[in-house]
Parts: sequence; C-alpha cells; structure tokens
Amino acid sequence: MGRETGAKCRLCRREAMKLFLKGRRCYTSKCAIETGRPAPGVTAGRRPRKTSDYGVQLREKQRLRRFYGLREGQFRRFFDRAAARRGVTGETLLQLLELRLDNIVYRLGFAPSRAAARQLVRHNHVRVNDRKATVPSMTLKEGSVITVRDKANSREYCTLSVEATDACALTEWLALDKEKLQGTVLHVPSRDEIAPAMNEQLVVELYSK
Ligand code: SF4
Repeated sequence: MGRETGAKCRLCRREAMKLFLKGRRCYTSKCAIETGRPAPGVTAGRRPRKTSDYGVQLREKQRLRRFYGLREGQFRRFFDRAAARRGVTGETLLQLLELRLDNIVYRLGFAPSRAAARQLVRHNHVRVNDRKATVPSMTLKEGSVITVRDKANSREYCTLSVEATDACALTEWLALDKEKLQGTVLHVPSRDEIAPAMNEQLVVELYSK
C-alpha cells in the first residue's frame, strides 16, 4: 500500500477521532471532527451497520497506523519488533512508535505535524546526540538529545513552529528548552503517558491470527 495522499480530514472522519494530520488547523474549531461531520459514506441519522470482530480489529489497526502516518509494511515491521521483545506486545508497540524520531520532533513542537516532522528530519534539519540524523523511523532512547541544526533557516522554521504550536503535543516524558531548541527524552513513556485513546490489544489480536 502506498503513501496516503488523499484528503487528510477524511481519514479522521473515517476513524471518528482526531489524528492530528494537518498541523495547527487540528487545534481550531475548523477541524472536521469538531464540526461533527460524519464518516465518509455515512448518512447522518442512519443506524450504523453492525461490524464484525475482524472489522473492529482492522479499524483499530488503521487508526493507530494513520495516527503515526505509517504505511502498512512499516507498521507491520514495528509490530514484529514489538512482538520479538519481552513484555506486553501492545504496550511495546506504542512505545516504539512514540520513540520514533519524527514523532518526537513533532511532539517537541519543531514541526506542526508528523508529516512535516518527517520532512524536517529527511532534509537534515535536526541532530540527535550531536550527530547527523536523517532517518525518521530511528528509535530514540532514554537520554537522547534532539537539537535543531545550527543554520538560520532551520532555527527560524523551528522557532516559529514552537511558538505557534505552544508545544501542544509535548508530554511529560519529554523536556524542551525553547531557547536552545533542544529536546531530551527523559524516560521511555509508560502506557498512561502515551496519548492515543486506542485499544492496542485489538491490533495484537489482528496480527496474531
Ligand atoms: Fe483531523 Fe486535523 Fe483535519 Fe481535524 S483538522 S479532521 S484533526 S486532520
């Protein structure tokens, strides 16, 4: 399956939740979820069709995958990595997704969306532990330090983004120094600290068939 190139708000309407795909617009009253538009193909007021167990599991997987903006193959590889580790597979999957470099750049507010964060990383605007880092899927660790490259255009873009988003997506397991444009992973997030209100167990059940 290729990259999602269609209307982004349509994906949120399909999943009936905010996936935060459009940057600052997602935090305004213009958001399609805030305005209460129904899912594509659903007529308001009509009784929804009954969904099978498989359908429920598939929907949950699609939600999680789209939330982090991954293609099916990439998402599956993250699941396989999580399944190969000790611990609760669903929780490990969420932790691995949260610790992706593009997700952390977004959560620090350096970019208004995960898609923009991915672009920022690919174009070499950020550094990890003072080293070049251009792979958006790179998994960071506790203590990893993310800085914006010391170039005027990089710093200007990220400063504006941090000010505009006011670190909407920043969570307790990350620290941000706005002056230095530097973020630190304080610890690996626990399940409670990971935002998506999703049932990751359904994803585990789907892939375990
Ligand atoms: Fe989703 Fe953002 Fe569009 Fe709202 S504005 S529906 S959160 S992409």
